Amino acid sequence: MKSETDQTPPVAHADNTLQKHTPMMQQYLRIKADHPDMLLFYRMGDFYELFFEDAERAAQLLGITLTTRGATAGTPIKMAGVPYHAAEQYLARLVKLGLSIAICEQIGDPATSKGPVERRVARVVTPGTLTDAALLDDYRDSVLLALIGAQAHFGLAWLNLASGDLRVMHIPAAQLAAELERIQPSEILIAEGSSHAALAGFAAQRTLPAWQFDTERAETLLAKQFGTHDLQAFDCADMPLAIAAAGALLSYAKATQHDELSHINGLKVEREDAWVRMDAATRRNLEISETLRGEPAPTLLSLLNTCATSMGTRRLRHWLHHPLRARDVLRQRQDAISQLVETHTQRDRLHRLLQSCVDIERIGGRIALASARPRDLSGLRDTLAVLPQLTTQLSDLDSPLIQTLSHACAAQPDTHDLLQRALRPEPASVIREGGVIADGFDVELDELRGLQHHSGEFLLALEARERERSGIANLRVEYNRVHGFYIEVSRAQADNVPADYRRRQTLKNAERYITPELKAFEDKALSAAERALAREKWLYEQLLHSLLPALSPLQNIANALAELDVLCALAERSLTLNYCVPLFTDDAIIDIRGGRHPVVESRIDDFIANDTQLSRTRQMLLITGPNMGGKSTYMRQTALIVLLACCGSHVPASSASIGPIDQIFTRIGSSDDLAGGRSTFMVEMTETAHILHNATANSLVLLDEIGRGTSTFDGLALAWAVARQLADKVHAYTLFATHYFELTRLPLEWRQIANVHVEAVEHKDRIVFLHSVKEGPASQSYGLQVAALAGVPTSVIQAARRHLVALEQGATRNDSQPDLFAAAPIAAEPHPALEHLTEIDPDSLSPRQALEALYTLKKLLD
Ligand code: ADP
Repeated sequence: MKSETDQTPPVAHADNTLQKHTPMMQQYLRIKADHPDMLLFYRMGDFYELFFEDAERAAQLLGITLTTRGATAGTPIKMAGVPYHAAEQYLARLVKLGLSIAICEQIGDPATSKGPVERRVARVVTPGTLTDAALLDDYRDSVLLALIGAQAHFGLAWLNLASGDLRVMHIPAAQLAAELERIQPSEILIAEGSSHAALAGFAAQRTLPAWQFDTERAETLLAKQFGTHDLQAFDCADMPLAIAAAGALLSYAKATQHDELSHINGLKVEREDAWVRMDAATRRNLEISETLRGEPAPTLLSLLNTCATSMGTRRLRHWLHHPLRARDVLRQRQDAISQLVETHTQRDRLHRLLQSCVDIERIGGRIALASARPRDLSGLRDTLAVLPQLTTQLSDLDSPLIQTLSHACAAQPDTHDLLQRALRPEPASVIREGGVIADGFDVELDELRGLQHHSGEFLLALEARERERSGIANLRVEYNRVHGFYIEVSRAQADNVPADYRRRQTLKNAERYITPELKAFEDKALSAAERALAREKWLYEQLLHSLLPALSPLQNIANALAELDVLCALAERSLTLNYCVPLFTDDAIIDIRGGRHPVVESRIDDFIANDTQLSRTRQMLLITGPNMGGKSTYMRQTALIVLLACCGSHVPASSASIGPIDQIFTRIGSSDDLAGGRSTFMVEMTETAHILHNATANSLVLLDEIGRGTSTFDGLALAWAVARQLADKVHAYTLFATHYFELTRLPLEWRQIANVHVEAVEHKDRIVFLHSVKEGPASQSYGLQVAALAGVPTSVIQAARRHLVALEQGATRNDSQPDLFAAAPIAAEPHPALEHLTEIDPDSLSPRQALEALYTLKKLLD
């Protein structure tokens, strides 16, 4: 077997090395040297070929055949190829794996080239710079992000190339992971020599020279791009790092696209305090757009997404991941949704009109990059035609937001007219073979087409004219492949031909002639097809070019359609799922009546609604009750209702009043961070520490089973301390589910903590979950019943039950103060007896051991 290094392509610029190669390989190596860290798709006829290491990699990743062909510089050339017409699907797979690909096309004409035909890299496909419909996920934005850090801060800039949306932000380093989780970049650009732990999970990272992240350079570059004198208008003077990142980002994007990117014409500054912040764990735990298993359904997004367009779906996803603090904006959304709920026939019509709209946002991007396909443009034309109907539907809706959006959807008569005239009603899908530009749009094209289609008529007319002119009745105009067009007369008539006839061929009985008119026709006709195609391509390019000035209004329309679509979807959901309009108040409360978990509710028959009341005097709810009783559903539903309210949506409750909220934190479930090498307990504690450091009195915190990642008494002590810190120091709104009954005593000491429990009843030694949340602590843990349900041996259950009773009596006798918790030695490890649960002699356990066994049992069962 050959070693890898045998296949390393020789260094291209060492000319003496190059010379040993065939001319084509020299060309390949030269191009490859400019793209060392990408796969090079090298066009050869109908294939893109990959060579050397690229070939090996592609063969492995794509499952295509690796072959060797010929040799260069004495070494066989490894190669693998994909047919060019199927290239998109291979590109899509590679890009998903985080790879970048340089696509090298044949520029010259193979027929006329001496040596290898001229080739050039026509585009570079990277995970963050996708714009091609075949490569993009319809329902998710593809985002390229650049970042640079200095002195515990980071500047971020990110670009959605498909739409031209460029944003910047300045953040403290500690927040980097959360922001990356929010923005979800497909590709990250960093400066050489910099790295950050938060980047660990991201596949596609590219290092750029540090000088590209220079603020001054960036300012000049950006101002030039936006056509402004400086960046003052963008209000970003206080974030030089972010500007530096935006500069590096822009140069990179331009280089990959070989284009000026005229649709990027400004930047938006995002400020931290605009959003209700959620960290990465919270986004995951709330299953906003992905389940904990990483699936797209059932999630909040999958439940709410009844959008008619993919623009709408992407916007809804964005809204759900970007809950807002600005309540005026939220109220506007609420009003708009309420209007659409009330006028549902109009909404249905609107929905149907939206269904006929194409993805203008992405088509706009492709127009800017001159890569829009004919059907993109015909779709755009048809969508523009729908706009007047759409705005009519909106005209009598009494909502300022809807009116603003309607205004943005104003018809674009010039653009529509241009597309209407330029394109055939059903153009071909690619321009390559023509059939795109409409008849009557361009005189020259019409003529060229006329020549193809009407040459018969022309020839008949010519024949008639020539018969008359020459007086030769049997004169015929004919065509053959070898000689082209000619006028044939019988030998006998040859002397009578007009003077301008030139002899073309002499046959036995006939003479063949050509005239200047027929020659001109022949020249035109023979190349008409080719020229028509060339003309059509040129016209198409011109058409794309003349659409550039329309991009900005088109992006406004795209934006408005996306938002209208989301509002319609949320209205439909509100009505169908019986949601209510939440009330925003300045009081520090979260007061939800009859709240439901939107996703769980949609999957079971009888969901039990529950209230959640939190305020300054009732800051923390300690939630107890049996496993499977509904504790985490209850906590999550509270967070989801708050989240939905902060997206402007109606919420699954009978009423909800919500005070100012700045962040949502969750610490739910145990997840081993295997990749990061941290134990469950470490993850739990890191996340908890993060919450304690960052939560404020306006934050909503969900904590589930804090402390269960460690031994019972350690865990209990930690849970106690965390609860106390949150209630006494942070004052955050907290829902705290726990199995530690000792914690239910916390309210005795801190009045702002209240006990609630999920109700369950015992029925014939079995447990029935009622799922309703009641005031006060659970009367018992039901751990034993749940353990029995799970098949723990009866002898163990019975022993535990006996000891529990003894303990409870003991606790009552010794009054309610420090007992087990206060006095217990902190056990470093679970009780050894528990390792062999089935072998325990129940009577040998002391009461404390029994209690430990109980806790550990529960832990094992969870
Ligand atoms: P816990 O966190 O207490 O172990 P969960 O919240 O995971 O319990 O709930 C367990 C199951 O109980 C859920 O999967 C759901 O099917 C059901 N459930 C939870 N809450 C309710 C409710 N309010 N109404 C009806 N069923 C519920």
